[in-house]
Amino acid sequence: MKQEPIPLPSDLAATVERLERLVQREREGRLQAEAIAERGLRELYESQVRLALLQRITDCANRSNDFSEAIGEVLKEICEHMNWAFGTAYRVERSGKAVSCVAWFTSEPARLFPLVEASRERTFPSGEGLPGRVLRDVHPHWIDEAELATDFCRRVAAASCGIRAVCGFPVMIGDEIVCVLEFFARTAMMDKDAILLTVTQAATQLARVIERERARAALVHDALHDAMTGLPNRTLLDERARAAFERLPESREGLAVLVIDLDGFKAINDKYGHHAGDIVLIETARRFDSVIAACMGGRRRGDEHAWRATLARVGGDEFVIVLDSLPNPGIAMDLAGALIDALKGAILVGDEYVNVGLSIGIAHSAAGYGSVEQLRQDADLAMYEAKSGGHGGVVTFSEALGNERRNRMALESELRDAIREKQFTLFYQPIFALGALQDQGERLRGFEALIRWNHPERGLVEPGRFIPAAEAGGLIVFIGDWVLRQACNAMARLHRDLTERGMSAGELPYISINIAPQQFLQPTFSAHVRRVLLETGVPPELVRLEVTEGVAIIDPDQTRQVLEQVRSWGVKTSLDDFGTGYSSLSYLQNLPFDTLKIDRSFIASMDDPKSRKIIRAILDLASNLNLSVVAEGIETREQGASLREMGCEYGQGFHLGRPLDEASAFALVWPDGAANAA
Ligand code: C2E
Ligand code: MG
Ligand code: MG
Repeated sequence: MKQEPIPLPSDLAATVERLERLVQREREGRLQAEAIAERGLRELYESQVRLALLQRITDCANRSNDFSEAIGEVLKEICEHMNWAFGTAYRVERSGKAVSCVAWFTSEPARLFPLVEASRERTFPSGEGLPGRVLRDVHPHWIDEAELATDFCRRVAAASCGIRAVCGFPVMIGDEIVCVLEFFARTAMMDKDAILLTVTQAATQLARVIERERARAALVHDALHDAMTGLPNRTLLDERARAAFERLPESREGLAVLVIDLDGFKAINDKYGHHAGDIVLIETARRFDSVIAACMGGRRRGDEHAWRATLARVGGDEFVIVLDSLPNPGIAMDLAGALIDALKGAILVGDEYVNVGLSIGIAHSAAGYGSVEQLRQDADLAMYEAKSGGHGGVVTFSEALGNERRNRMALESELRDAIREKQFTLFYQPIFALGALQDQGERLRGFEALIRWNHPERGLVEPGRFIPAAEAGGLIVFIGDWVLRQACNAMARLHRDLTERGMSAGELPYISINIAPQQFLQPTFSAHVRRVLLETGVPPELVRLEVTEGVAIIDPDQTRQVLEQVRSWGVKTSLDDFGTGYSSLSYLQNLPFDTLKIDRSFIASMDDPKSRKIIRAILDLASNLNLSVVAEGIETREQGASLREMGCEYGQGFHLGRPLDEASAFALVWPDGAANAA
């Protein structure tokens, strides 16, 4: 029998109800407290996990100097932490495009293959694709339902891999976006704030790696490049040239070195200042660069062989190009021609246009070359050869040039010994007044001092065989100094003897001394002449300095100054070998010369009416400019007679008197010796 509950008294029932409510509230409170505690614990756990993740990412960033080394690990850490399927990254290149990095991470490579393939080796311009949108807007982008996102170009690939959500984040250095991170998840990305926090902190660490990488790259770049032009410097060039040489086949063919020197650069620096010089160098480098690029462009169209070029600035105005993997040697010559053409257009410096020329030496590697340095030396030599022509241009090194160089070096070393051991001697060739030919015979007016090298084995060596080498090696300055002193001393002695024998001052012969351009343009030259004049006591008006127009070509202003200076002391000046070289009339007009010496080539060809016309023109010119004239190389009686008839005042030549040693030459001046002169 079912028992009916005993009805509680109404106040008791109310008490029970209250108690039950109390118990209920207490249970709810307890559950709430438990939930709060659990959430706190979970949050604590999550933040600890996130902290640990960031710690690992920071450690990785600290370890690596190289972004490509760090990025793979960072993507892996983030994907594993977030339980995402795929993560990849794009570097923002100088072109402003996002280019995929080699590194990516996926938890299931096989399953994600289509998406990895669709993302690999991709370039996204600004605004295009998810990376492009992050790049353009410089903030994160989310795609919640990849399958439905019509602006997501990898939608199909993503869907085939079961991808639901995608996000992209910028990696920033200051205001600059340097990289885009991209993640793919199979489930919805729920807590975006937390995701943003984690990924942004990881991105900050990645940015540090990129900054360090950049700083290191800048240091390396500075160490290997010329600061002014940005071109590779000598160190980088040497490194690349050596590596290219190592790669050569046994035949050693396929490598060429071009040494390029600017002509007239010093004059620009001197005239307009160093800043102008810098502008010229920078512009030259820029033109060279584009010429090389154009030549290589031509190659791509016409030639399937790839060749490489390294253009470097290795000194003040010296550039070097190393060409390697050349399919044919003609490319080097074509390139040299194009470089010369590229500099034909004047360069704007401030408000003025300036011109520079080029001297280019080329050397091609071949069997027998032991090092790239040898090749470089040969190209250098070819460049000097091009420069020595005075007009620049291109010279390719050859065996003959090498031999000449070796001989010249041997000669130079012998010349050093000769200077030390005083193996030089002076010959003197008489110079005559031709005017009185019919009446009294020629009258000896002076001597030209002509150097000879008294070689211990080869005997007397003529100046033509060693002066060029002495000039090239800078030894001419020492030799010329000796000549000046020796000739003045000898003449002073002769003058003393002649004066003692009663010759009047007006009859004393003069001495004409050849001065090489290098010697003449030395800053101390005129002071040196003055000292020699004082020390030897020879009267300045009986000293003539002969220079060729080479000095004026090198430096017309200084030439003028020196000529004026020595003339102010009474010394006479002669322009030697007139008619050869440029024979610029402006030099004649602007430079203070007393005498002009007609080159012997005109006298030798006097039978030719054309030569006679030229001689006549030179004589007219000289007379108008108030210059006296000496005809050089008179070898026959007829030549002497014709010249005299044409009004040529002075002459020298084998017919009148050969160059002789001091005693024999000076004997011609004695009253009894003079009779032998003719
Ligand atoms: P230069 O100054 O024009 O000297 C004249 C040259 O012509 C001399 O040659 C002389 O011997 C030669 N000569 C004179 N008359 C005749 C002739 O009738 N027929 C022919 N065929 N030649 C004649 P050298 O002595 O061999 O000197 C050659 C050049 O060497 C000189 O030409 C001069 O430029 C240079 N030189 C000579 N001595 C010195 C010197 O002490 N210092 C410098 N820097 N150069 C010198
Ligand atoms: Mg001379
Ligand atoms: Mg001469």
